[in-house]
Amino acid sequence: MHDLLPDATPAWQTLEAAWRALMAAYAYDEIRMPLVEKTELFIRTIGEVTDIVEKEMYTFEDRNGDSLSLRPEGTASCVRACIEGGLLHNQEQRLWYGGPMFRHERPQKGRYRQFHQFGVEAFGFAGPDIEAEMILMTARLWRRLGLQDVLELQLNSLGSAVARSDYREKLVAYLLAHHAQLDEDSLRRLHSNPLRILDSKNPALQSLIEGAPRLGDHLDHEAREHFDQLCALLEAAGVRYRINPRLVRGLDYYQKTVFEWVTTRLGAQGTVCAGGRYDGLVEQLGGRPTPAAGFALGIERLLALVLEQGSVADHGAPHAYLVMVGAAAERHGLLLAERLRDQLPVLRLRVHCGGGGFKNQLKRADRCGAALALVLGEDELRDGKTAIKYLREERPQLALAQDELLRHLTAWLDTANVK
Ligand code: ATP
Ligand code: MG
Repeated sequence: MHDLLPDATPAWQTLEAAWRALMAAYAYDEIRMPLVEKTELFIRTIGEVTDIVEKEMYTFEDRNGDSLSLRPEGTASCVRACIEGGLLHNQEQRLWYGGPMFRHERPQKGRYRQFHQFGVEAFGFAGPDIEAEMILMTARLWRRLGLQDVLELQLNSLGSAVARSDYREKLVAYLLAHHAQLDEDSLRRLHSNPLRILDSKNPALQSLIEGAPRLGDHLDHEAREHFDQLCALLEAAGVRYRINPRLVRGLDYYQKTVFEWVTTRLGAQGTVCAGGRYDGLVEQLGGRPTPAAGFALGIERLLALVLEQGSVADHGAPHAYLVMVGAAAERHGLLLAERLRDQLPVLRLRVHCGGGGFKNQLKRADRCGAALALVLGEDELRDGKTAIKYLREERPQLALAQDELLRHLTAWLDTANVK
């Protein structure tokens, strides 16, 4: 679990702003759920025999002896909240959320015990147009972040629950025939949840998995049609994709469509965004049957990719640092700073505190990354002016009166491309 120190937060803020703008552009509504739920909720939804529930949850007893868990993902909580909040009675919902998730995994690059996701869930939409919308919105975010060339969309269909159980029998027969090659996890899952074996990260199993019967060859008619329509919508919208018949996702609630956006630039942890359709989940948690689909993206992995591409802009440093020499200048400076903030709401102005000499203050202005130093010394105070020193450009220093200063800063902010 990591601290985000101030040198890291500007990139987060840039991404968060891009995400909010994206959600506004598609008219999705925000929902916020608690970080803790009854353990039972995750066992019932994600599945008892999954990595998350078997090994990764932070589970504890509270003072009443109830078993609670820190949320490992958002979908289960979101469905619970929608049922409890009465959001699903003959209504469509398009929702988003963001925040920390917790999984007790082996920490490594792209895998943390507290990590952060943005997620989207839509309820009441049975057709593949909603999946297409979700894929288009993520593709738009990648373009916005300059990542369109480093992320590949992988798609698969898991079919209906019935088709899956037919397939399951064939898979178990195949795996039994290759019993000796299975690892400990897979042996355990062979009868409880054999599809999970296809999701194994163990390199030694990859060729066995490669040779397994394909889920795509056992799809029911409806799921096949749904999938074909989705592919057609994506083609019409010019979204490239690859059908990955091994894509099963690590959670039990998915049916029909599953998808991932994957990169080769982050080593083994290459999935940045993942989701799919989960039509049975609302009913399973006590709601009326409601078709549903959603996805979640891992913010740490997305940021790692953005930084790797060098495409994050605004570093959030102050535009200006106010240097004041002498007690009278300090009094005056505090008021000047307030007036500037009234008149230039986008100006990021840091005011020196703690006194000290001119040289020392200027050093701090430089160190904090400010582009300008605004200087109030005895001379400036006497003349009713403020000096501007450019810290990052070869430009002569200026001494400006109040209204000139305001005009000058306005023009400077314009050219510095500040919105
Ligand atoms: P993986 O196969 O990498 O373990 P997952 O299938 O467990 O991922 P999901 O539950 O689908 O992941 O979560 C969606 C996204 O959240 C992932 O694609 C990834 O970007 C991110 N994510 C999942 N677990 C972690 C983690 N421990 N640390 C950082 N990001 C994570
Ligand atoms: Mg995982």
